[in-house]
Amino acid sequence: MITVPEQADYYKEILFNLENPVVLSVEQFDTYWPLTDAVWTKIGGKTLQQNSTVEVQHYECRLRKSKKTGTNVAEKEGRVVKNRITTSRVKDLCQVRMKMTRTLTEPITVTLERKDGSKHTHDLEETFRLCGLPSAVKRVVQAEADKDYTAAQIFHALKGGGKIEGSIALEAIGGASLKRHDVSNAKRGSRPDQRTLLHGISFRQDVDEARSLRNSKGRLSAEFEVLDAKKEQRWGLVFAEPKRLQVLQQRGYLTQFDSTHKMNKWKHNMFSFLVRDGNGIFIPAAHCVVDRENSETLSRAMEFIKSWCCWTPRYVLTDDSSIEQLAVKKTVHSMRTLQRKFFSAACKRVFDLLRQAMFTFTGIKCEELCRQAVNAAPEAMRSYVETHWLETQAKWAMYA
Ligand SMILES: [Zn+2]
Repeated sequence: MITVPEQADYYKEILFNLENPVVLSVEQFDTYWPLTDAVWTKIGGKTLQQNSTVEVQHYECRLRKSKKTGTNVAEKEGRVVKNRITTSRVKDLCQVRMKMTRTLTEPITVTLERKDGSKHTHDLEETFRLCGLPSAVKRVVQAEADKDYTAAQIFHALKGGGKIEGSIALEAIGGASLKRHDVSNAKRGSRPDQRTLLHGISFRQDVDEARSLRNSKGRLSAEFEVLDAKKEQRWGLVFAEPKRLQVLQQRGYLTQFDSTHKMNKWKHNMFSFLVRDGNGIFIPAAHCVVDRENSETLSRAMEFIKSWCCWTPRYVLTDDSSIEQLAVKKTVHSMRTLQRKFFSAACKRVFDLLRQAMFTFTGIKCEELCRQAVNAAPEAMRSYVETHWLETQAKWAMYA
């Protein structure tokens, strides 16, 4: 039921304390980061540094709580007030901050380092008890919650079925403070097993019925599956009315995202792409139903819409969701396209030039880099670089 990574204890210790910078391969990061991730909270967004060769994200210990949730009125008025003594945790208890650097070129590594000399004023378990469990535990709990057992049964089993040594595996992945209500909560949020409805119609039949309905109404639709960043299969369905797609084509330079959560019986989320009509009113032009909100499913949906009409969004209004923003950046050209297309040694130079072009801030420089890339490309690739990169700069470059 629980797989404990081989060196779990060692990595938990070094990733929590960060006495020295820790350099991990992608595989190591995927294995060990979920054991301690709940300790950290992000500060600000990711930034590209060192000529766009590395991506940097800053974190702080959750117990540091620099993100204030409210304003202290007394402090604002300049009065000195004595903190009320409470049993809950004290703000600014811990001062540890951390920087995570991920290289964007092979070999891809993730480096975690503490930003100064301060050390945690608590232990790892205390963080989990106060701030929530790490993803490694949440994942196990969710996998069990999706099965047909009661929360009590699952909790009992995870805790080792009453045997003293039984909960060793759970504790090894950081689940010592797992409570029964954590399981109940996961159970509540989980989808029905086998994806069958109460009246016995399978998910597949449901989707097929919806498709014939859309077809009969002359809507365009496409179903897709993608692997997300966690390598999990995600499902999505994108659909639109041709007449609305014309509006999207004409006016889609300004597009707004709108999302509805748990909109159908499968608890799927729906995204709509809105554009302004002739009267300046936002109307929905295309929709997408996804089983999990992530940038991979969204950007795939946008690719479909683009293939149906010549939609070139220049300004996209999102409701601050990083997923939506990420999806927008991904649709046209992404680092991933670049890596996939130019992974061979012969294309190294082209790869470097186009990567620079992606992140350059002026049109002239971008154009120049693209031309250099065309010249540097092997004969067979040249026209591809010319058509899909040089001539489409405005669609993917950062300056655009
Ligand atoms: Zn701390």
